Amino acid sequence: MIQSSLIPEFAGHVNGRWKESESGQTIRVVNPATGDLLAEIPDMDEMETKLAIESADRALAEEFSFKERQNWLLAITELLLEHREELARIITLEQGKPLKEATVEVEYAAEFFSFFAGQLGHISPRALPDKIRGCRWTVHYRPAGVAGLITPWNFPLGMMAKKVSAAIAAGCSVVFKPSELTPLSAIAFWSLAAQAGMPMSRMNLVLGRPGPIGKVLCIHPSVRVLSFTGSTATGKVLLQQTASYVKRVLLELGGNAPFIVFQDADVDLAVEALVANKFRCAGQTCVCANRVFLHLDLEEKFIEKLAERVAELRVGNGLHTETDIGPLINRAAFDKVARHVADALRNGAKRIVGHDPEPPSKNSGCYYPPTLLTGARQGMQIFKEETFGPVIAVAGFSAESDVIELANSTAHGLAAYVFTRDYHRAERCTRHLHFGHVAVNSGTGPTPEAPFGGMMQSGLGREGGVEGLVEFCEIQTTVIA
Ligand code: ADP
Repeated sequence: MIQSSLIPEFAGHVNGRWKESESGQTIRVVNPATGDLLAEIPDMDEMETKLAIESADRALAEEFSFKERQNWLLAITELLLEHREELARIITLEQGKPLKEATVEVEYAAEFFSFFAGQLGHISPRALPDKIRGCRWTVHYRPAGVAGLITPWNFPLGMMAKKVSAAIAAGCSVVFKPSELTPLSAIAFWSLAAQAGMPMSRMNLVLGRPGPIGKVLCIHPSVRVLSFTGSTATGKVLLQQTASYVKRVLLELGGNAPFIVFQDADVDLAVEALVANKFRCAGQTCVCANRVFLHLDLEEKFIEKLAERVAELRVGNGLHTETDIGPLINRAAFDKVARHVADALRNGAKRIVGHDPEPPSKNSGCYYPPTLLTGARQGMQIFKEETFGPVIAVAGFSAESDVIELANSTAHGLAAYVFTRDYHRAERCTRHLHFGHVAVNSGTGPTPEAPFGGMMQSGLGREGGVEGLVEFCEIQTTVIA
């Protein structure tokens, strides 16, 4: 079992108190690197979710000034940084990623709180400069109300921070459900939020199986914003469940990111960017390059350099300092990666680096070796779906128009990457790529200062930036004669 000064109880937090489940049912949380039991957390259900929403709703009666919200956000920032090492250890234990990545995740989470602390001026009332129809017009950014927040397991602290920071800044109260696979970072965060002086009846943490909790968040009329990060399939379920209740649904869903390297690109830069982008979190991020397109003129040289870099990566327990790639989150994730690789090989792809790993036993981690495949094609599973694992699949191309068409031939428009030294080509490509985040000569993902989100089936709404704050506000226009 995990021992941590930041985890006083294996419990949720409802109406200002730690809370077990009424049913006494629990869910096991295991370390994906070893299969060891870390905790048994309460399996809360509809009833506890309803109590949490009611607490959050009642708490809205007390209004807090911008200054008070800003003080909470800054206090949380400081506490996250102060406890960075312990939080990183908790993330690595429950999620598996290397400690160095977990530390970056804690810092990233802290940046969201400090960023939104500085953005409250953007939701001050805005008086229109002209008198229109003899009246004074003012736009107000009111708190939307109770925010229901659901996050996945790949960034247990980071994903939570994106949503909670914006909700607090906007003046909303919160009912948060982390992934049942990684709830411990959230428990640790909740103990820090209490230390930061937040009124905790505004901050509710519900733990348990997703179906029943998600359903209540979707249909309870007091939940005015539902913000979800996870798979497209679950996002669609939530949209359907909320439809007759007409509430704002923010969805950050899966991607299928193209990574395009043109003949005039800086090969060393592109190789390094791809390795950093693709193998972070063992390839389990929604902005990971999923389809790599290399111009035929540089394909051979690129693959040679890339193969060297991929072969150097060390797989292991994230707590060990030399580890570059930790385990996959669970057996289902491992099986999906193995299935995609087998499908690609069966259909003509060639494995340049990697091998078929032994299937993990019950008490060991689900480690998948970093793999490089060439000869990938449209129609292979690895190009159709997010693989969510440490596998690079490469296809060659020769014409710019063809590669843009190929890149766009997906319903998922989250992130795309383009490498070229030609400014005009970069500008043309970014304009024609239907993705919410397009990086040129860089493999970087989102930052708190900029709005991030997907086009088409990759989602609705934005996180980060002023746009991400306004998502948690209800806009009201007053007209005073
Ligand atoms: P992934 O495949 O990345 O695990 P999911 O969409 O299954 O993606 O999970 C992301 C988050 O959504 C997790 O917190 C999970 O518990 C939650 N979730 C899964 N199914 C539902 C559902 N029916 N209603 C609400 N939340 C759900």
